[in-house]
This record gives sequence, structure tokens and C-alpha cells, in this order.
Amino acid sequence: MLLLIILLQQVYTMTFKDLELHNNIQEAITEVGYLTPTPIQQKSIPIILAGEDLVGIAQTGTGKTAAFAIPVLNLIHRIVGSAKKVKHIRTLVITPTRELAIQIGENFTNYSKYTSIHNVVIFGGVNQVPQVDKLKRGVDVLIATPGRFLDLYKQGHISLDHMHQLIIDEADLMLDMGFINDVRKIIKLTPTNRQTLLFSATMPLAIRELSDEFLTKAKYVAVDPVSSAKGSVSQEVYFVDKDDKKKLLHHIIVENKMSNVLVFTRTKYGADAAAKYLAKNGIKADAIHGDKSQNSRVRVLDGFKDKSIDVLIATDVASRGIDIAALPYVINFDLPNIPETFVHRIGRTGRAGLDGAAISFCSKDEKPYLQDIEKLIKNKLKVIGDHPFPYKAVDPNKEVKPDLRGKKGSAKQIAKTESEGKSAKRSAKPKTDDNSRKSDASKKNKKRWY
Ligand code: AMP
Repeated sequence: MLLLIILLQQVYTMTFKDLELHNNIQEAITEVGYLTPTPIQQKSIPIILAGEDLVGIAQTGTGKTAAFAIPVLNLIHRIVGSAKKVKHIRTLVITPTRELAIQIGENFTNYSKYTSIHNVVIFGGVNQVPQVDKLKRGVDVLIATPGRFLDLYKQGHISLDHMHQLIIDEADLMLDMGFINDVRKIIKLTPTNRQTLLFSATMPLAIRELSDEFLTKAKYVAVDPVSSAKGSVSQEVYFVDKDDKKKLLHHIIVENKMSNVLVFTRTKYGADAAAKYLAKNGIKADAIHGDKSQNSRVRVLDGFKDKSIDVLIATDVASRGIDIAALPYVINFDLPNIPETFVHRIGRTGRAGLDGAAISFCSKDEKPYLQDIEKLIKNKLKVIGDHPFPYKAVDPNKEVKPDLRGKKGSAKQIAKTESEGKSAKRSAKPKTDDNSRKSDASKKNKKRWY
């Protein structure tokens, strides 16, 4: 008998129906096509429904947005009541980037389709007037980036007197981007009897301290630790010189008739240069990074989602939070100097049990990064030797790039590097330039890869 029960438990998989959600929410979930909760959802939803504080350690791609959106909607559904009732902010979600904020808003919209719960998304870098208008029309769930939230709060456009749940999303990214003090300020503006949910891909000390300080008897749940790249993703590496990478990228995409490809570059300049090269050579490609306007980022992301753009080239910071289910290919145009970034990047493919391919380009100066990555993932990437752009003979006069390993700069610093990389490199010109016979104009025009 006992054996039978154990067997049944193993065969049995939880479905959303087991969570006994309100019909209006269950119907919307069925409509978006979710049958089985993902592991983070299975672990988090019952805790959130019970009104407890929660720390969820999970990356984007694990279904973590629905892991908090669904139970929160279920909790506030009755309180919000009919569309005629006066609206108050019941739930506040704080998230670091506008892309994440928009995606969280889309999730809430999908799951609350058959309720009168209304969400509003606010973020910086755009005119505040339309956002203020939306706030005035009434909001139940407010999704905000920290800076814009504090701006509009100070101006008196936001009241948190009726708030029940505070969700801090991507807490470690918030820390990396220098938002942690803003997050602290925001927490202190919320009612003390709130329910607090904190989600983070990793748990640096500062985030653990934050949760110890502001969460009450929090339950911890974790899925998909960052050091374990998924097994269903084939991982390949091509050894290629830096100046041949664009050609190799084009070759691989054409040869394998790839579409829906996400390419990572280290710098904004690199992203633009690769996108331009591919577009010039007949591939529908575009880049997203921090220098692009909000409108153009949204346009490019939409294009990638609706498949009018085949290749999306992104820097790490800009790509964080890009939510595209079951991405078949991720290409690391540059290897990251922080091995965990590699795991984050390739975590975007092979989702939902589908197979994915993660392809990495490794130039000679990136070999130490490859070693670090292989050490972290405890796996050797499969070397693809048969390609048209193998390493060329070493030029003894070539500048050797410094080894940046261990320079575990924060995302903010990395973002800074993204924007300053070019000028920093320029100002770090070797002294011999002074003796160069090239004219100033020609030096100025010299294009650098980074
Ligand atoms: P997230 O981690 O929130 O970025 O979610 C990643 C992707 O998984 C999104 O495209 C969701 O729509 C999708 N997703 C979330 N929950 C489920 C589920 N239970 N079943 C299938 N897909 C899901």
C-alpha cells in the first residue's frame, strides 16, 4: 500500500486546478495555455496564497512572474471587487528595467483578463504625463521602476495606504544597478503589515540582509541554481579571431538557416556593429542596448517576438529580462568575463523542456574566460573545429588585451563599461601614438571594434 502511494505521488503532477484559484483567474490561465505550474510556481504559489512572506531564488525564464502574479491576483480579486468600486493600489511591484516592468504588466493583464483588476506600468526615460493620467484613472496593481516610482510618489501622484503586497523583483539586478537605496526608501513608504515577496536570481549578502531586515518569517524557495546550466542545451564553442566574428556569425546563421537567434555582445558598439553587418548582408537583424530610445527598444523587441526580426543582438544589461519563451539559439558573440553571466545568457534557450543550442565564439584573448566558464558549469563546451574562420597566425606586434577575470564589476559598472568602453579605450592609447606618422584626422577616423 505504502509503495503504491509513493508510486502515485511520483506519477502525479500538480496542475493549476489543484491550486483552487478563483474561476475568473483559472479561466485566463487556461486560455494562455498553462496546464502545469513550473517548479517555482509549485513552490511559491501555495506560500503566497497563505499570505506569507517569500524569498524566491529564480531566474527569468523559470515562470517566476506568474509565480507571483497569479496568487497575488487571486488574493486581491475579492478586495478589488467590481469595476465600479473605488480603486486603490493593492499591489506594488518594483523591478529594475522598463523591459521587465512592461513584461510584468503584460503578465498581470493576461491573468486578470476576467477580473476588474487593472494594472499600470511606470518607468523613467519617458514623459511622465501619460503615466500620471493612468494613475489618476485608478490602479489596483502598480508596476514600477524605482526612480520613476519615487519621482511620482514625491509629487503626490501615488498613495500606498491601501497596499497589501510588495513585490521586489530581480533584487540582485537592482543591487547591481545601484537601485538598492531607492528600494530601501520605497519599502519604508509601504505599510508595515504588508506581505512582502522578494525574487532574485542570486543571493548576494546585501540582498540577504535586505530580506532579513524587511521580510517577516519569510519562506525560502529556490529553483535552477545559477551554477547548473540546463542539460537540454547543446553547448558549442568556435575558436575565431575577433575580427572574423561577424563573418562567422553570418556564416553560421545562413548555413543553419537560423531564425529567432539571440546574440550577446559585450559592448553597445559591438552590438550595433554586428547588427549592421548582418543587415548589410541580407539578414533581418537589429540591436538593443542602453543607448537606444525606449521606443526603439520596444519596437525591436516586438519585431523579434513577432518574428519580423530574425536576429536580436543585445548587451547583457539590456537583455536582462527579455522574456521570449523557448528560444532555440543563443550566440555568445563575446564571452563574458564573469562566468555566471554565461549561465544567465544560455538560460534563455532550452526552456520549457525544448532543446536549445548555445554557441560561443572565443577569440584568443577570451580563452581564460572559457576556462572559468567550463569550471563553473563543470562541463567542457564542444569545440567545433570545422569552420571557415579558424585562428590566423599570431601577429607579434598585436596589442594583448588585459585579463579582466576576477574584475567582478557590478552590472552598473558593466553598463558603464558598455558606454565608456569606447572612449576609455581611446584614451588608453599607447604612448607610441604620439610618434605615429598618421595624420590626426586619420587617427580620429580609425574605427575600433570596442
Ligand atoms: P518568466 O520567468 O516569468 O519570465 O516566464 C518565462 C516564460 O514562461 C513566459 O513566457 C511565460 O509565459 C511562460 N510560463 C510561465 N508559467 C508557465 C507555465 N506554468 N506553463 C507554461 N509556460 C509558462
